[in-house]
Amino acid sequence: MKAAVFREAGKPFSVEDVPVPEPGPGELLIRVHRCGVCGSDLHMTDEHSCFNPPGGSVIGHEFAGEVVALGDGTQAAWKEGHRLAALPYIGCGVCRACLSGDPTQCPDVRSQASGGAIGGFAEYCVVSARDAVRLSDGLGWEEGAFVEPVAVGVHTVATAQIPMGARVLVLGAGPVGLAVAACARIAGAEAVAVAARTDRRADPAVTMGASEFMLADDDLAQNFARHAGGPPEFVIECVGLPGMLGRATSLVAPRGTVVMAGACMQQESFMPIVATMKELRVQFAICYSRREFAFAEKLIASGRIDPMPMFDGTVGFDDFPGRFEELRTDKEVCKIMLKP
Ligand SMILES: [Zn+2]
Ligand SMILES: [Zn+2]
Repeated sequence: MKAAVFREAGKPFSVEDVPVPEPGPGELLIRVHRCGVCGSDLHMTDEHSCFNPPGGSVIGHEFAGEVVALGDGTQAAWKEGHRLAALPYIGCGVCRACLSGDPTQCPDVRSQASGGAIGGFAEYCVVSARDAVRLSDGLGWEEGAFVEPVAVGVHTVATAQIPMGARVLVLGAGPVGLAVAACARIAGAEAVAVAARTDRRADPAVTMGASEFMLADDDLAQNFARHAGGPPEFVIECVGLPGMLGRATSLVAPRGTVVMAGACMQQESFMPIVATMKELRVQFAICYSRREFAFAEKLIASGRIDPMPMFDGTVGFDDFPGRFEELRTDKEVCKIMLKP
């Protein structure tokens, strides 16, 4: 099968012929129909990242596809042709984390996000049947591939414990920021402002549920207070670059909560006394549980979240390596998907 193979940081993917993986017990082989490119894919294949996948890896963690072969023990629930999205984590299946539906914390997890198993930048990949979610009828492949980033929004908002009527500031208008804003609004936050350095995502931010879009400039604190009636009780960082922790702690209200949802892979420094004087709660967040992932599918299928304002189009294997490299600097794009 064709796959976009990571060879080394600083070099584009090479499209190669690799063996189709075999589904083991409890696993399903799927034909990938779409796989979104995530900011973390760009970060972890960057030369300056603290982490690179092993050479020869096939990554890609935002995929949707259809079942083409079944591993032992999956026949009761699954059939060929079933359409699904799945957690890009294949856990051991027997540890406490796996049994409680939280395979990202399994000590023996193989992650398709970082090269532990073949990911979605390929024609086929294997998923854990236990951690796969069937796509509702009528849900398109692109919407299916958005289940993963929307699930990040579900988990981030659940982890933040945002109460009804809260004032929330989301830093960053990438897919995670927009998904977080949509979920925070559904959770009952009154004001949810999305802030970014340019206004190119102003329309999708508001379409997806933000109460306001703001430029992340020197007037952000003032503009937020004017919009929301006070400073943000929650600042949710969705950029993932150095400096954001300090920015978030300076913007949040005293005794507020900062949630770090951006995956920063570089050294960070900040002034702790700012957070100390405000007695802040700082919470880091990553991924989602099986239940949150399934809920994200329901949010999209029911129309409560429409992720398509984030969608910028598909690309085939021939153009994929070049397009992927362009995304490192092309900040106009929100979400491109590989169509293998
Ligand atoms: Zn992602
Ligand atoms: Zn496990």
